[in-house]
Amino acid sequence: MDERLQQLAAQLDGALHFDWLHKALYATDASVYRKTPLAVAFPKTVSDIKKLIKFAADEGASLIPRTAGTSLAGQCVGDGIVVDVSKHFTQIISVDEKARTVKVQPGVVRDELNTFLEPYGLFFGPNTSTSNRCMIGGMVGNNSSGTTSIKYGVTRDKVLALKTVLSNGEEVSFSAISEATLKQKCATETLEGAIYTMLYSELSSETTRAEIQAQFPKPEIHRRNTGYAVDALLDTEVFGTTETPLNLCNLLCGSEGTLAFTTEITLQLDVLPPRERAIVAAHYHTLEACLDDVNHVMQHPLFTCEMMDDVILDCTKHNKKFEPYRFFVEGAPKALLLLELRADTAAALLPQIAALQATLNDTAQSYAAPVLTGKEIDMAMELRKAGLGLLGNMVGDQKAVACIEDTAVALPDLPSYIREFSTIMEKYDQKAVYYAHAGAGELHLRPILNLKSDEGVELFRNITTDVAQLTKKYRGSFSGEHGDGIVRAEFLEMQIGTENFELLRRIKNCFDPNNIYNPGKITDAWPMDKSLRTDYQEQEISTKLSFDDSKGILRLAEKCNGSGDCRKSEHAGGMMCPSYQATKNEKDTTRARANMLREVLTQNDRNNKFDSEALKEVFDLCIGCKACASECPSNVDMATAKSEFLYQYRKTHKASKADLLVAKSTHYNKLGS
Ligand SMILES: Cc1cc2nc3c(=O)[nH]c(=O)nc-3n(C[C@H](O)[C@H](O)[C@H](O)COP(=O)(O)OP(=O)(O)OC[C@H]3O[C@@H](n4cnc5c(N)ncnc54)[C@H](O)[C@@H]3O)c2cc1C
Ligand code: SF4
Repeated sequence: MDERLQQLAAQLDGALHFDWLHKALYATDASVYRKTPLAVAFPKTVSDIKKLIKFAADEGASLIPRTAGTSLAGQCVGDGIVVDVSKHFTQIISVDEKARTVKVQPGVVRDELNTFLEPYGLFFGPNTSTSNRCMIGGMVGNNSSGTTSIKYGVTRDKVLALKTVLSNGEEVSFSAISEATLKQKCATETLEGAIYTMLYSELSSETTRAEIQAQFPKPEIHRRNTGYAVDALLDTEVFGTTETPLNLCNLLCGSEGTLAFTTEITLQLDVLPPRERAIVAAHYHTLEACLDDVNHVMQHPLFTCEMMDDVILDCTKHNKKFEPYRFFVEGAPKALLLLELRADTAAALLPQIAALQATLNDTAQSYAAPVLTGKEIDMAMELRKAGLGLLGNMVGDQKAVACIEDTAVALPDLPSYIREFSTIMEKYDQKAVYYAHAGAGELHLRPILNLKSDEGVELFRNITTDVAQLTKKYRGSFSGEHGDGIVRAEFLEMQIGTENFELLRRIKNCFDPNNIYNPGKITDAWPMDKSLRTDYQEQEISTKLSFDDSKGILRLAEKCNGSGDCRKSEHAGGMMCPSYQATKNEKDTTRARANMLREVLTQNDRNNKFDSEALKEVFDLCIGCKACASECPSNVDMATAKSEFLYQYRKTHKASKADLLVAKSTHYNKLGS
């Protein structure tokens, strides 16, 4: 195979790597999974992508599209060729100010796009917590959203057109089409024609449409990632009673790279939100009172409606940095709602605040509702973020695991859903910690599990199964925004019923009969409790420096959960990670260093585990600035890890003359002066 990979590499304008280093770095994303890919490609042109497709078809291999790799459910993990477009597909192609649209390549970072759009008075609304590094291609792949979804919708609502390469190498653009155009397309003898014909024939059946409408999540749940969004195709001119034209972008959005390779994306933009803002921080004595209020406050034109409970708040208590940020917390609330209002002027904001306060007075559920403005808002939001960070930043083998962290239900169902959810958590002796995009009915909660133990893996499956069943009971969406990936795909059939699931299979088979694109996700799912990062036999590792704070150097590496904060650009504020900012290569991120360190310590038979050229290569550009020790939410201190590595590596490899010269520079300087 290496020879054929070499031949492929020679044909590409971009690069193809199949060394241990690259395969190890791309074996994981921000999920709990790990699979070693066959190779990693950095295509430069669409022609490169076509060559990769041909290779995959000839060799029976697969392609895993990837941008920033911040997926939480294992979407970017696989044993084929990982195709990273974050390096070369980074152009903002054009803006149409009048139509408020922008055309971009998939590797454009969400926040950088918005910085570019600001002078036009426009922006792209969907806003993930990872917005300073996640890319538009990945947001389309996962149909991402975030705090702004109640006002600006989800990515699917914004995608007007997609230029793609289909699994047979055909280049096809998808956008809104009339019924007449649909018929013309159906008549062509191309894969595009076959796709339109198949969907037209399947969805023309009244029984099929009724089954979709009966089994997919309730229509009022706007954050929904449940397999392929066939439900989003129904309310159209062709299959429904509306005048909305059919647009297969709705189906491709959230398809997790399993149907087509995206090369260009046209997005609908919004006018920048009004500048003046205020947050009303409603305080509650009970979780129930808080949830009961959500329906009422959502009658107001809120921009965000975020909930956090006392566990998150308490994480920041007695914390030197964050104690001052708690200035607005009155008494000991069991839960808080942060309700954001905006207007063009401060004067226009006042009646909105008054109206919201009147509603809170009427419902009489909250006991305090201070109004925050200016910097106070950032501090309150920072407090929420910090609480979550501290909660997730666990040292040792117990980790907050993403599996049931992304359910969404209809707002009226939220209180009783959460009650039943709590019962499940109690059954498994899990501490329930609630933070939610409450206005969207979306609950984020991660159980604390040790996936290195058999019991932990069993709990992982059992808890996920129970919550999947509960979500189904409420006709909720088992994934609101993070996607199905590996962790949730297994439960899709249960969520949408066998007939709908078989329809998804036929769709996949029509788009991609050779299963080239990202197998193991959505249909024909891989088991959710296999291929875990933690599947290894631990060996004794002794170190010169003390890593007791992290329970050893391996656990220091394992503190990195792959969230990719170290991929943020130099414009995003902060320092981490200067080497990535300079090269834009994944291998120069803190995450890469943590990944490679974990690999050499767990997948390596050498006596001196640090005797690794791959590890040396990732550490080479680390300047030891220690930015990661404080800026990384998991506080992964790579500078100290690098010192240990160099000490251990030098046991096998003598220091070079250049190294010795630098080491003794003070001495030589003295001699020379
Ligand atoms: C700490 C943390 C917080 C998060 N918060 C949020 C949140 O608030 N809201 C939210 O929605 N998500 C959130 N996420 C999940 C994740 O950040 C988002 O899904 C993000 O949009 C993924 O972008 P990415 O560039 O990392 O994509 P990747 O992870 O690289 O890819 C995502 C999917 O898109 C596919 N894909 C990528 N490029 C292409 C292409 N060119 N063609 C076809 N398919 C492609 C991939 O195969 C994959 O299936 C969070 C993740 C983390 C780690
Ligand atoms: S210490 Fe190294 S890994 Fe950490 S931020 Fe600085 S350069 Fe990056």
